[in-house]
Amino acid sequence: MADVLKRVPVREQDPAVRAHNFDEVCLGYNKEEAMEEASRCLHCKNAKCVQGCPVSINIPDFVAAVKEGEFEKAYQVIGQSSALPAVCGRVCPQENQCEGKCIRGIKGEPVSIGKLERFVADWAKENGIKPETAKVKNGKKVAVIGAGPAGLTCAGDLAKLGYEVKIFEALHKAGGVLAYGIPEFRLPKSKVVDAEVENVKSLGVEIETNVIIGKSITVDELLTEEGYDAVFIGSGAGLPMFMGIPGETANGVMSANEFLTRNNLMKAYLDEYDTPIRKGQKVAVVGGGNVAMDAARTALRLGAEVHVIYRRSEAELPARAEEVHHAKEEGIIFDLLTNPKEILVDENGWVKGIRCIRMELGEPDASGRRRPVEVPGSVFDIDVDTVIMSLGTSPNPLISSTTYGLDVNKRKCIIADEETGKTTKDGVYAGGDAVTGAATVILAMGAGKAAAKGIHEYLSNK
Ligand SMILES: Cc1cc2nc3c(=O)[nH]c(=O)nc-3n(C[C@H](O)[C@H](O)[C@H](O)COP(=O)(O)OP(=O)(O)OC[C@H]3O[C@@H](n4cnc5c(N)ncnc54)[C@H](O)[C@@H]3O)c2cc1C
Ligand code: SF4
Repeated sequence: MADVLKRVPVREQDPAVRAHNFDEVCLGYNKEEAMEEASRCLHCKNAKCVQGCPVSINIPDFVAAVKEGEFEKAYQVIGQSSALPAVCGRVCPQENQCEGKCIRGIKGEPVSIGKLERFVADWAKENGIKPETAKVKNGKKVAVIGAGPAGLTCAGDLAKLGYEVKIFEALHKAGGVLAYGIPEFRLPKSKVVDAEVENVKSLGVEIETNVIIGKSITVDELLTEEGYDAVFIGSGAGLPMFMGIPGETANGVMSANEFLTRNNLMKAYLDEYDTPIRKGQKVAVVGGGNVAMDAARTALRLGAEVHVIYRRSEAELPARAEEVHHAKEEGIIFDLLTNPKEILVDENGWVKGIRCIRMELGEPDASGRRRPVEVPGSVFDIDVDTVIMSLGTSPNPLISSTTYGLDVNKRKCIIADEETGKTTKDGVYAGGDAVTGAATVILAMGAGKAAAKGIHEYLSNK
């Protein structure tokens, strides 16, 4: 009999093989494995896992349905709370959320809730099961800006409540970071992202791409001339930050956003596409978050030797532990407690190296993490021909600067009520990275849900 304290292991591509391809790393559970893993769940009365889920999925009930082999029922239970289960099952930081609170985790390994969610969503897609739709339309119109997780969730929930919803998306493809940021090997685009976008459309949501709100049309025009009763802004935080060190404008230095967008959205990794991308021989990725791991693992797959340069130690790496583990398995070199001082440039203006200094950890700073301080006299150079900056992003001020009465804070994030998404402008709601700054898929979805509720309350009382 299987050890109930241990998870059913999930199959993955061999690291030596996957380092050279863009196919998905994790292969997921099959039916038998999913049912066996689901049988580890204790179906707790006071289920702590639900408290850890930002969109409050009824985890005990969906897992119980999986245990019984009732996968369609499991899908509909998840669908009551989440519009993007195949995405969340793959990229949510479950270890800090549902699985981090799972009672099974006290004595053994927590139930693999994320892998079960992924299994259910993939099974539903393979079997042509769609989410339940609204029966009656209520005659009111809502505009949603941005087709990322926040916008898709808000739009889906409003459509289920009977609203006519249209999403305006700046790029040529819906999905937000799911489409342009997270690489294929973690989140397959046509199999997962496009399929979940289609599910949202099947609820009656219309998506118009290539419309930049603030340029093509403004929020005020949507409310006055276009007759929308309310607007939700889910425009994300896509503006990259740089260090401001010498040499940063050299050829061969780019933001992780640019590098990943070329590769993911514009398919630079496929030979049949003409998108230009710099495939370095030796690449430095500066930063330690999920975005840095994605950029590093992408550069590796394009054929480079890759160094991740991060100023704190491994314990402080903000990326998910699973991503760091996968990156190491694939051969990424981690230069920890290291900070860039200058990018070295050759006579033609191209990167030829990166000058760094060793760091050590001092007293805790405002974030509670120990502050990295330079070790005097420890400067050294690493030979690289490409530098990818992955230092975080902030919201683009285009919408806030063109919308009368919409206030932002000093980080250019839109000010919105956490419970309802209500902004300082009447009839305008916001959520996701545009409000919090760069965060996570599930938090953006939670904000989209809260705003859908807030908009429904507002329009029901108008
Ligand atoms: C490389 C990368 C890896 C990540 N990995 C993870 C992970 O593993 N797990 C996790 O939980 N989170 C991860 N994140 C974070 C997560 O993806 C984001 O927090 C989440 O996508 C935010 O959702 P959103 O809907 O607020 O914004 P976005 O996903 O950014 O979507 C916003 C959308 O709005 C559009 N838009 C912007 N301005 C306008 C405009 N003026 N008019 C019309 N449309 C506009 C954009 O084109 C975009 O499509 C990652 C982020 C990146 C960049
Ligand atoms: S806390 Fe863990 S064991 Fe309890 S219901 Fe949730 S998943 Fe099952």
